[in-house]
Amino acid sequence: MSNDADLVIVGGGPCGLAAAVSAQRAGLRPLVIESSVVVSTIAAYPTYVRFFSTAEKLTIGGLPFVIATEKPTRRDALAYYRSVVTYFGIPLRQRERVTAIQGTSGNFTVVSRTSAGEEEKTKAGAVVVATGYFGSPNRIGVPGENLPHVTHLYKEGHEAFLQDVVVVGGGNSAAEAALDLWRSGARVTLVHFGPTFDKKIKPWVLPDFTNRVKEGQIAVRWNSRVSAIEPANVLLTTSNGDARLHADRVYIMTGFAPSMDLLRECGVPIDAKTGIPRHNSETLETSVPGVFIAGVVVAGFDANKVFIENGRFHGDRIVARLLGLHAPSEPKLSAELDT
Ligand SMILES: Cc1cc2nc3c(=O)[nH]c(=O)nc-3n(C[C@H](O)[C@H](O)[C@H](O)COP(=O)(O)OP(=O)(O)OC[C@H]3O[C@@H](n4cnc5c(N)ncnc54)[C@H](O)[C@@H]3O)c2cc1C
Repeated sequence: MSNDADLVIVGGGPCGLAAAVSAQRAGLRPLVIESSVVVSTIAAYPTYVRFFSTAEKLTIGGLPFVIATEKPTRRDALAYYRSVVTYFGIPLRQRERVTAIQGTSGNFTVVSRTSAGEEEKTKAGAVVVATGYFGSPNRIGVPGENLPHVTHLYKEGHEAFLQDVVVVGGGNSAAEAALDLWRSGARVTLVHFGPTFDKKIKPWVLPDFTNRVKEGQIAVRWNSRVSAIEPANVLLTTSNGDARLHADRVYIMTGFAPSMDLLRECGVPIDAKTGIPRHNSETLETSVPGVFIAGVVVAGFDANKVFIENGRFHGDRIVARLLGLHAPSEPKLSAELDT
């Protein structure tokens, strides 16, 4: 392969960075192109969150991740992945969004746009799409969803101290945001269209939430749908008719959907039901030869199959395919992640 890079990796998340290290170790020339800054998904986590994986299970390329406690914080992980980039000298261009993958195996052109608005064209032998699942929030599609006091991303509760807040959603992120907001002094109502939580809630979060509800500290509105958001209220449609809740802030915790546009536009079929790009599960090569997927993109809409713990090994399989070797086997996940 003789191009600008043997392997262009689209997305500098943990799995994209790990693929770059695998490629480098195999003597290939990788290049990571990242639309924001490396591990931007982790940067967007709630400020004080702790990983449920141990530090060892988040490591890349065997570089030790040493912390004084068992589970790293968001800040520990940001520092670790920055050190991964500098330690391995990963070739990287940040603030540059890949907009198209053109050409054929051995002769791709990766088209991107820099934050200054300039178009770049990079030649590559093969391409790995590792763009993650934070493509765009799952919007609930009601009037008022774009108002300034409404957010789809939870960072921390201080901003809601002594205020009325509505948290929308029935998964882990909704339960955790509701608890954190309550602990920050907000008056919290959780609204969900189902009769209870709809996803597997972390075993240590559920009793905490249930006890807060029992003690009247957090209010819940099950079987209730948000029909509109106004500057100071949330309107609900419930089984008992319409209702109106006062809300200074609204947190819509309904998850994110991966963006598959890049893959679709370069000819990879995406399964409409699962969101999974057509690919060989052993080599991770898509149905377009020379275009690979890595990280959570492999699991489509299912956010419970691929994590850093297993996605960090995807690069090894891709490199094995490029070198004509057998793919290494998948590692086992931590019990908490193995859903
Ligand atoms: C609160 C929270 C806690 C978690 N805890 C754990 C845990 O304990 N253990 C664990 O294993 N997992 C955990 N996860 C899951 C973990 O964050 C994801 O599995 C991981 O981030 C996926 O890595 P990735 O590299 O596939 O994608 P991402 O980390 O999402 O990275 C994708 C990157 O691609 C970039 N990108 C997107 N589109 C383009 C484009 N067109 N051009 C260029 N760049 C682009 C994005 O900016 C992003 O930086 C947690 C997730 C959350 C939300």
